[in-house]
Amino acid sequence: MRFSKSFIPTLKETPSDAVVTSHILMLRSGMIRMLSAGIYSFLPIGYRVIRKVSEIIREEMNAIGGQEFHLPALNPKEIWEETGRVEAFGDILFHIKNRDYVLAPTHEEIMTFHARNVLKSYKDFPQIWYQIQTKFRNEPRPRSGVIRGRQFLMKDAYSFDISLEGLDKSYQLHDQAYRKIFDRCGLKYFVVGASSGAMGGSGSEEFMVQSDAGEDTVAHCEKCGYAANLEVAESKVEAKGREERSEKLEEIHTPNIRSIDELCEFLKIKETQCAKSRVYIHNGKPVLILMLGNEEVNESKLEKYLGSAVRPAHPEELVELTGAEAGSIGPVGYKGRIIADLRLKDANNLYSGANKTDYHYGGIDLREVQSLPAGKAGIEYGDLRQVQSGEPCPRCGSPLKVFTAIELGHIFKLGTKYSESMGAMFLDEKGEGHPIIMGSYGIGAERVMACFIEQHHDEKGIIWDATLAPFHIHLLGLNLKNEGVAKACEEIYNNLINNSYEVLFDDRLDAQAGVKFNDADLLGMPLQIIVGDKKLKTNQVEVKIRKTGERFDVELASPAGGLNKLIGKIKEIWSETVLK
Ligand code: ATP
Ligand code: MG
Repeated sequence: MRFSKSFIPTLKETPSDAVVTSHILMLRSGMIRMLSAGIYSFLPIGYRVIRKVSEIIREEMNAIGGQEFHLPALNPKEIWEETGRVEAFGDILFHIKNRDYVLAPTHEEIMTFHARNVLKSYKDFPQIWYQIQTKFRNEPRPRSGVIRGRQFLMKDAYSFDISLEGLDKSYQLHDQAYRKIFDRCGLKYFVVGASSGAMGGSGSEEFMVQSDAGEDTVAHCEKCGYAANLEVAESKVEAKGREERSEKLEEIHTPNIRSIDELCEFLKIKETQCAKSRVYIHNGKPVLILMLGNEEVNESKLEKYLGSAVRPAHPEELVELTGAEAGSIGPVGYKGRIIADLRLKDANNLYSGANKTDYHYGGIDLREVQSLPAGKAGIEYGDLRQVQSGEPCPRCGSPLKVFTAIELGHIFKLGTKYSESMGAMFLDEKGEGHPIIMGSYGIGAERVMACFIEQHHDEKGIIWDATLAPFHIHLLGLNLKNEGVAKACEEIYNNLINNSYEVLFDDRLDAQAGVKFNDADLLGMPLQIIVGDKKLKTNQVEVKIRKTGERFDVELASPAGGLNKLIGKIKEIWSETVLK
């Protein structure tokens, strides 16, 4: 493609409304433009990448026996009412005002609608149906560019089986296909086991990448692959344990001491000698939570432990419950349920609040708390803390990393949720009816593209691999008013195309060399061929590898003619460097 005839509106400056790297680079390289919040147009150079992503997904889906559909995005609302998902999606669902239609945010209902009309006998199974199609979701906070759009392209696949073993097999096939897809796309990803949430069914995994644009926080072990959402992540961090000699319980006057830091400073003790108290209200009743030192309560873990939602107690409630203000609350003499984090299991010689403003206790033994004079509460223990970066992995002991991540894809075992609510039944060998067992599997095409850019760029721009690059080679003619340069460029351009390379030829007559160099680095094709009159005098051009920045002078041709030397060298670099 010739630059002079293409629409590639590159930008020198960072657009003010973009903060995430991939968003900035997609705007600057002229790949996308925003139409309205969360709604983007893909411009030609960007759409070439989306097509390549889609093609890789298509090939791998076909390889596991997937059959490609194309379903309507415009759906009659009644189908969505059959499963109760008009309500479940709530404000996320886009409604058409003048008709009872919705814009599909996913396609479980529509695929199940087709399955129920055609898959009737056990002989019709298994099936894998997929499509690569636009989805609509009224995301409340569209940001990060195409990573969270209100309209986006999703590969969504659905499996139909007659047994749980069949479902396992379909699920495994998708798991393998996903790994191949993301590997081929050149993404560094990891897999997190997740709850299947509103989707129902049992068993699901999310394919994630590390990204500042991510909205999930995860703990990940690079060594063994352990990965978990921080809401459930564990580590092998050591418990405080029991000291051999138990000190005597003593009340200490601690005027105006409200935090663990202040207490440590005042008493010249270590954080790990303290137990911090937090009071939550669960089902209308208070629960005192004890954490080691300054560690925070992970409310998700607490809710999981208790089985339902909690809220922190209000300051007035604290005074009413304990007789003390927030900084002076503790387990000794507390009348009510106490749950301590596992790091405090059976600990002694602890400092904590005395339930009397401006007083703390020292020498607290959690084993004894029950029998201390004023209190009758027994202590329960649970994993309530948030894992921190650097703590040992619960599986292999290597240091964990905690970071934000974004979901690229998701595989779910749906079970019979949709087939039951929509009446999609099959007859077994004995002629008995059963609901079809389903799975659903999604990948966001724009997210694959954006996440690739998040992982492959430098300060100058994008660094594409051969697979997703909009073009393989960026040919730069530096001074095209020079006849020799113009002629050489035309010849090189045609020759590369004849050798099956996709070439973007910067043939702009009036653009300065500096502008061309900057655009080439910003757009980030794997190879650049730079043609200038000086080098051409010795029958040479310059070849630059974008990824490494290496430059070579390459002779165009041996006396035998054509461009045999250049093409030979390009093929060599391509297979030995670009494809590696
Ligand atoms: P998230 O938790 O990030 O909102 P999700 O769990 O709602 O995603 P799914 O319903 O599992 O997403 O959709 C399958 C895939 O579609 C996701 O893994 C993601 O790659 C993509 N996707 C979902 N929502 C969006 C969006 N708003 N914009 C772009 N891609 C999206
Ligand atoms: Mg999901």
